[in-house]
Amino acid sequence: MDSSNVAPEQCTRDAELWLNDGNLILQDACLFRVHHSVLAMHSLFFHDLETIPQGEAQAAYDGAPLVALCGDEPADVRHFLKALYFPHYLPPPPMQASVDIIFGVLRLAHKYQALQWRCCALRHLSKIFATDLETHLDVDDQSAHTIRIALALAQEVGAAWLLPSIYLGAMFFPETMISSSESLEGRPACLAHNDLAIIFSAMSEVQRMFPRYVFLLPGHQCYNYKCAMARLQLSLGDGDSRFSESPLDFLDDILDDEDDTDAVCATCLADMRLHYQEWKKGLWDALPTIYRLPAWPELLEMKKRDLEVR
Ligand SMILES: [Zn+2]
Repeated sequence: MDSSNVAPEQCTRDAELWLNDGNLILQDACLFRVHHSVLAMHSLFFHDLETIPQGEAQAAYDGAPLVALCGDEPADVRHFLKALYFPHYLPPPPMQASVDIIFGVLRLAHKYQALQWRCCALRHLSKIFATDLETHLDVDDQSAHTIRIALALAQEVGAAWLLPSIYLGAMFFPETMISSSESLEGRPACLAHNDLAIIFSAMSEVQRMFPRYVFLLPGHQCYNYKCAMARLQLSLGDGDSRFSESPLDFLDDILDDEDDTDAVCATCLADMRLHYQEWKKGLWDALPTIYRLPAWPELLEMKKRDLEVR
């Protein structure tokens, strides 16, 4: 929210971040009393903030200069300041942190050029939104809500290397994502039209990539009629529109289902699994193109720059 038109007297003091010996007041919907020197140590923005305003012409409150934050949510400000002040509030990976903290710190660290904190938050996100297939398959699925926030934030902070994995996760929730007006701590979490267009276009593109050959061409001569018929049946039933929602594990469910594959011979089943793994690698490599992003090498270069500790 824009707090510049709200009198500080109308704002409540944050219970934890009103430090009596602080020499700088930050105002959004809440008031935070902090230390300019601490903020300047972490953030180029606050470092470059010219001398703390003084004199009657400058905004002040309770004897200290007042900076009205523009467009920052109190929850984000709280997460950011706590990361600065409280050890282990946002520990570096591999230690865990909640996505709300990661998102809040990243948003403000990017805006106020707290480069180490931006890097730390992005390192956490790199564990959730992978840039290689193996890690991606290992990571738990994220909620639609997390995906929406992550997508908007990755765009906001220019971390395009996060986008393939986020878009892929988004394909699982298209209708929810469109219809939901759910917000996070007051912030709308709606997707940009361009992102929605990319997701829907990718869904139809991936749907057309259904690897029917996995079932029909096992890679060796199979003379088992029942096996051939069973595989044909599987290849016909697979045009399921849900395929594009989860293309990297959709067939695993079929191949692992003994009822579906009991007539398929063991050799064919092993070949089908192998071919599906190869198809997954091909899809993963093609994701940047499908999502209208720079190619993987460029994305990985961006990631490397973003995750370098400065
Ligand atoms: Zn067979």
